[in-house]
Amino acid sequence: MTNKTILVVEDEESIATLLKYNLERVGYEVLLAHDGKEGFDMALEHSPDLIILDLMLPTMDGMEVCKELRSQKKNIPIIMLTARDDEFDKVLGLELGADDYMTKPFSPREVIARVKAVLRRFTSGPQEQEEKEKNYFQFGKLEVYPDRFEAFLDKVPLEFTPKEFELLVYLLENKNRVLTRDQLLSAVWNYDFAGDTRIVDVHISHLRDKIEENSRKPKFIKTIRGIGYKFEEPKNV
Ligand code: CA
Repeated sequence: MTNKTILVVEDEESIATLLKYNLERVGYEVLLAHDGKEGFDMALEHSPDLIILDLMLPTMDGMEVCKELRSQKKNIPIIMLTARDDEFDKVLGLELGADDYMTKPFSPREVIARVKAVLRRFTSGPQEQEEKEKNYFQFGKLEVYPDRFEAFLDKVPLEFTPKEFELLVYLLENKNRVLTRDQLLSAVWNYDFAGDTRIVDVHISHLRDKIEENSRKPKFIKTIRGIGYKFEEPKNV
């Protein structure tokens, strides 16, 4: 558990609720504000560790909130939320003091990854900065960047659903270890009960289609008969 507090400033109720739910699920405390002025006041009052700030807001827009906070020397990291068709000037946004930005729609996993990355950047010294750069996996032509929610095969970007990506990262973090289907269910789907493990098999099969050159003869994700799966670091890639 992290005990970090995140202020979400978002007037769209469904997005605010989704963000709150997913951030709380991984242990953050979440404060919600529904317009720009309320967000600005709450930021001053509570000094959260990070602000997720929608661009288009009633009373004060995201840019104004950002600018005002910076002029008050409030050095709270800000992730700006924009809609795809917003006229958002990324350069100006970053100049006004946003630290990162995300375009809607986004997956919960992406949000968590961005939040963690921004918080890490703000709370770590130079040495940890370098450590951060090492948070990627490379095996031959396969490259995976968990913090950026990106993976490439032979330099070509791969498309994953959030669960597929989460499963892949979990396998990589536990590479060369045999993982049971139940372990994977509980780690990736948060099932604390004996769920239907076919969902694991289906996702493994999708992952293989994407990352293996020949999904019938997988080089990376091995089936351990009767037990589960293992991500094996290939010997000669
Ligand atoms: Ca909005």
